[in-house]
Amino acid sequence: MGTTITRLAYDVFVNDPPPNARAGRLPNGEPKGGSPVASTLIYGSEEAVLTDPAFTTDQAQALGDWVAGKGGKVTDIFVTHGHGDHWFAAGLLAERFGARVVATAGSITQMHVSVALRPLLSDKVYPGIPPAPVTAVTVAGNRFTLEGHELVVVEVGHSDTDDTSVLHVPDLGLVVAGDVIYNGAHLYLGESVLVDGLQPWRDAIDKVAALEPRHIVCGHQDKRLDDDAERTIAETRQYLDDADELLATETTAVGFFSAMIERYPNHLGRTVLWAGASALYDVREHPEEDVGQILVGGWL
Ligand SMILES: [Zn+2]
Repeated sequence: MGTTITRLAYDVFVNDPPPNARAGRLPNGEPKGGSPVASTLIYGSEEAVLTDPAFTTDQAQALGDWVAGKGGKVTDIFVTHGHGDHWFAAGLLAERFGARVVATAGSITQMHVSVALRPLLSDKVYPGIPPAPVTAVTVAGNRFTLEGHELVVVEVGHSDTDDTSVLHVPDLGLVVAGDVIYNGAHLYLGESVLVDGLQPWRDAIDKVAALEPRHIVCGHQDKRLDDDAERTIAETRQYLDDADELLATETTAVGFFSAMIERYPNHLGRTVLWAGASALYDVREHPEEDVGQILVGGWL
């Protein structure tokens, strides 16, 4: 039919965490911060797909300028899961590039949850988040294409939140893993209280491993590190094992936080570690209290 299948390529932009407005400090005295968030541009000769389109207005500006500098027409913006740090600025980028926003039905449900929690959580911690209407749509069969190449949305269930998904690009040996796999950054463990522990996350990792990717872009990554799939999968599994071991032996949130930092001295996102740790121990010590409020409180 005369259709030329061009080769795909991808590139990654990592936004530094936005400033944290909370006055409190971490148990080791450090000011509170956040975690870097990675966005991936998958592109052919003329068109491109962008993933996890940023959190704040400033981040959207930086990411959008980087995307614009690459050239090409952004057809779709894919959101891996509902946490606002990965998509609250989707509307700005969708408008700038005239792109469609794509997510799974489960992620769209979770996006509405994140929007409802905004005034209690995200807006209190990270100022400068733009209006975030949920405009994402699902795609038939969880598949869409980029210049004839298939992009497959794979639903993996609970990882650091409910209803998470990854984007598999078979022709690149690439998985854009959202928060299922982390790379040089602390995992957010808080929501494991909603699913009785870390086994669902391990199951989600197994689903990513079964895709046999060569490269994984993690939603939270230290940009100095490579994207080797085998290493990032192994390290994320090990982190969960370490967390389970220390949750069994450490009796306080501060003890757990300190022990994890000792094992992972170079990991970014200690505020994320603390938000999870304080919630996990709070639930343990106050089983009668509302879990949702405890999870929000971990960030405040
Ligand atoms: Zn995240």
